[in-house]
Amino acid sequence: MRQQNLLMPTLREVPSDAEAVSHRLMLRAGLIRPLAAGVYTYLPLGRRALRKAEAIVREEMDRIGAQEVLLPAMQPAELWRESGRYGVYGPELVRLRDRHDREFALGPTHEEVVTALVRDEISSYRKLPLTVYQIQTKFRDERRPRYGLLRGREFLMKDAYSFDTDWEGLDATYRVMYEAYHRIFTRCGLIYRAVEADAGAIGGEGETHEFMALAEIGEDTVVACSGCDYAANLEKAEAAVSQQAQAGADEGAAPPLERWHTPDIRTIAQLTELLGPEASRLMKTLLYVADGKPVAVMVRGADEVNEVKVQRYLGAEQLELADAETVQTVTGAPVGFAGPVGLSVPLLVDREAAALSEGIAGANERDYHYRHVRPGRDFALAHTGDFREVRLGDRCVRCGEPLTLYRGIEVGHVFKLGTKYSTALGARVAGVSGTEQDVIMGCYGIGVSRLLSAVLEQHHDEQGIVWPLSLAPFYAHILPVSITDNAQRELAEELYNRLQSLGVEALLDDREERPGVKFKDADLIGLPVRLVVGKRAGERVVEYKERQAPEAESLAVEEAIRRVLELVKPSASFVGVK
Ligand SMILES: [Zn+2]
Repeated sequence: MRQQNLLMPTLREVPSDAEAVSHRLMLRAGLIRPLAAGVYTYLPLGRRALRKAEAIVREEMDRIGAQEVLLPAMQPAELWRESGRYGVYGPELVRLRDRHDREFALGPTHEEVVTALVRDEISSYRKLPLTVYQIQTKFRDERRPRYGLLRGREFLMKDAYSFDTDWEGLDATYRVMYEAYHRIFTRCGLIYRAVEADAGAIGGEGETHEFMALAEIGEDTVVACSGCDYAANLEKAEAAVSQQAQAGADEGAAPPLERWHTPDIRTIAQLTELLGPEASRLMKTLLYVADGKPVAVMVRGADEVNEVKVQRYLGAEQLELADAETVQTVTGAPVGFAGPVGLSVPLLVDREAAALSEGIAGANERDYHYRHVRPGRDFALAHTGDFREVRLGDRCVRCGEPLTLYRGIEVGHVFKLGTKYSTALGARVAGVSGTEQDVIMGCYGIGVSRLLSAVLEQHHDEQGIVWPLSLAPFYAHILPVSITDNAQRELAEELYNRLQSLGVEALLDDREERPGVKFKDADLIGLPVRLVVGKRAGERVVEYKERQAPEAESLAVEEAIRRVLELVKPSASFVGVK
């Protein structure tokens, strides 16, 4: 490709509204342009990189025998009603009506469509197992689209769906898919962890993993062990039970409960400051409403309630913090004074809080707390369990080594759906014995456009993008210092033609621009190798520089070509260039 005519509008200024590094780089390097909030145009460089990512995904899906299909983005609301999701999906589902006033949705996901397809086309176990996939535009009307392609309203996804006749079959499919995901993200040059995730939120029955790209901008928290391969997302992560909690609260006598006047002390932060070292014995009680009924949850003062764990324990469909009015009704006091003593609603006590020999807690009375609150003596321990979020300093549930917390971007997930959709939509097959059974499903997603952003969050420097070979829009950037100099232009053209004929995708900067502008653009778009044709063109000597190398090397043309081939060969054999 010749740069003179390439639609690649680079920007010197950092766009002020772009918070994420990847978003800034994509705008500055001319990969994307916004059309509306969370809706983007891919310009040629962005499209090429996206196609490379697609090609890697496609190749690994094909390798495991998944069959490519293309399902419609426009889906009848009727299907979503059959699965029961039309009502519950909420405002993120883009809904529309056709000219006959029939309701449709623009697909954020395709379980309904693909399950209906299998229901209509497959009737015998002999046709299973089956895995289909597609790479397609999805729609999700995010309340706060941001970070460019990281959280868009229109985005590119690979979604795959598997159909098996038994759980063992699903286990095998899941394992194969899980391994394919590892290959995909490794090939994309991503630094990531596969983490255990909570299945409840998506509404399935089984195992699920999320693939998290590690990046500061990430909106998820990944908990990973420093000693073994345990890794989970924050919702799911467990910590080892502390020694104190294992031993149980000591049996020694605690002083009797003491009412303590604490005017205007309503927050844990205020109490912590007031108490100093004693703050480690704070008990924090939060009021929730679970499926319409109030419940209380108690954790240590420095802990946070893990709402997913609470919800799972209660088997509740919905869980939300109680409003001020409910708190007043349930505790008899305004927000800030809730405590476990004398509560009339169910009380869930985190096992670490339950192990405190005594503590300080709200007294369910305005401006009062209790000292010397003793679990089991002053309130019942009817519901004790793991209800808190893992935090720094916790130890691994498997090996006891310290846990580390990272920020992560979810780029993929694999999920054992079971029969949720096949039951709802009636996707049944005749089994070996002739009796009908619901097919057993898995679903497997990769955010392809988000993956591109995640890669850029990890692969850049102060000058711009540092493309991993596998996703680079072009491999080699040929840069004649002066295109009007005959020797330079001729050698640059020769290099360009020869590399192209060798299967190396090359970009020739044939613009009549100052060298400074060309070099800045080259660093910004960050192709893996740059060949500068300058003063020594007459001697057939060029400057060879890999994007991350500190210095350029002067090489004879033949040697430079050999080095380019050596560099790109492993990647070229992967993607596109055959
Ligand atoms: Zn461990």
